[in-house]
Amino acid sequence: MHLPTLLVTSVMINLLIGGMLWAMYHLRHRERCFLYWAVACLTFVAGTAIAVAERLTDLPVGTTFVTHLLLGLSPMLLLAGIHLLMDLPPAGTRGSARILYVASVIYLLGLAAGAGFDPHVPRFLTALYSALLFSLAIYRLGAIERKPRLPLAILQTLFAIHGTLMMAQVLVIGLAPVLGGQLDVETLLKLILVNHLLLVSATAMALPLLAFTRAEQILVALAEQDGLTQLLNRRAFYREGELAFNKARKAGNLITVLMIDLDHFKQINDRWGHAVGDESLRTVADLLTAELRDDDVIGRVGGEEFAAVLRNNSREAVEAVAARLLQRIAETGREINNVPVHLSASIGGATLGPEHGRFQDVLASADRALYRAKQNGRNRAEFVASPMGARA
Ligand code: GH3
Ligand code: MG
Ligand code: MG
Repeated sequence: MHLPTLLVTSVMINLLIGGMLWAMYHLRHRERCFLYWAVACLTFVAGTAIAVAERLTDLPVGTTFVTHLLLGLSPMLLLAGIHLLMDLPPAGTRGSARILYVASVIYLLGLAAGAGFDPHVPRFLTALYSALLFSLAIYRLGAIERKPRLPLAILQTLFAIHGTLMMAQVLVIGLAPVLGGQLDVETLLKLILVNHLLLVSATAMALPLLAFTRAEQILVALAEQDGLTQLLNRRAFYREGELAFNKARKAGNLITVLMIDLDHFKQINDRWGHAVGDESLRTVADLLTAELRDDDVIGRVGGEEFAAVLRNNSREAVEAVAARLLQRIAETGREINNVPVHLSASIGGATLGPEHGRFQDVLASADRALYRAKQNGRNRAEFVASPMGARA
């Protein structure tokens, strides 16, 4: 392996990838993580270029410091870009922030003190600092909750190899004076450089993958959400409801569908205005979210119509839930936006029974019960008698 060829290849590939990331930054409406990653490639290129120039000619003492500052900045920018993309606090958790600050200060002091004397000292420090940054990156990626799982796992693996390689470099440089003649330090460093090249290319592909998967996740979530109430919209509710239905059928469990329709809502709009109407809808949505369980499916399936799928509930429990919902809606809806709205709702409930072949059938039963609740005077809940529901 010819070291200059290797270095030139490394510079070229990093320039290419940096350019690609910079183009993505512009194509993706200036999403800043891409800019950070592009600059990370460029600082790496600049650091390598100065290091090469240093070998060829005599440069002033300060250049070694600058070289390694640039090389150390590169993984730092990579980490910062990931934080930006995943909406993590800039410096991470308090513990990891402290580690980062302390390590950075030690690194800078070490560079400033050691750069002038022995060329191995800054190399050693930069490799150690990079290994630490990659470890932090792995830790931060692991702590992310909303996962596009695969790209995160790919990045973690790549960073683990990166970090291990950096530690190998630390060992090679650290042991060089001890092992001296027995160890071909140059060859080992070249090997590390080749691997580094492959890893940088792989990482450059995995980063956009992470960004795009995440963007898609956010878009899908937006497409399934009702803009006014943040509940599931009709389409998403039907899909989630069907999933719950199939799961219950398979496991022999019960689910209950509640249809919740606000009473005389047209009058509320006409009398108090649309803004009060909208606020009433948001209030009811918040109540449903607060009163029902986390694994219940809640959606806004029509203008002033909500629906919920409750899992594993006995008839008594479901009736109690419906009564509590009606009570909370009446209490909270007495006054909205300082206006005496006197909100109320009617609820129709149906529990999964043998007569229900599809999720839509349960919905239809609940709808019939809702109709009865309206007929019987509103502000009340009615349930479809179901043989299976009655037994539970
Ligand atoms: P009922 O008790 O029989 O359900 O009477 P209702 O007036 O609630 O029923 P109807 O279906 O006649 O009217 C529903 C009203 O809901 C009509 C519409 O103006 C209102 N509505 C639908 N979507 C929205 C919305 O997004 N915001 C507001 N403010 N009102 C809405
Ligand atoms: Mg209504
Ligand atoms: Mg309605």
